[in-house]
Amino acid sequence: MSRETKEEYTFTCPECDEALEVNGSMKDALIERGCVICGAGVTTDAFTNPTSANSS
Ligand SMILES: [Zn+2]
Repeated sequence: MSRETKEEYTFTCPECDEALEVNGSMKDALIERGCVICGAGVTTDAFTNPTSANSS
C-alpha cells in the first residue's frame, strides 16, 4: 500500500453539517468561497487534520 503523504483534512460544515474529505488546496478554496453545499462561510475551525494528532 503506497500512499502519498498529502495534506488531508475532514471538513465539517457548521451550517449544513456535511462532512467532506479534502486536501490542502480544497481547504483553501472552501475558506475562500464558503461551503460548496450551502454556501456558508467557512473558517479553519471547520477542518480537522487526523494526521497531526500527535500532541505530546
Ligand atoms: Zn454547508
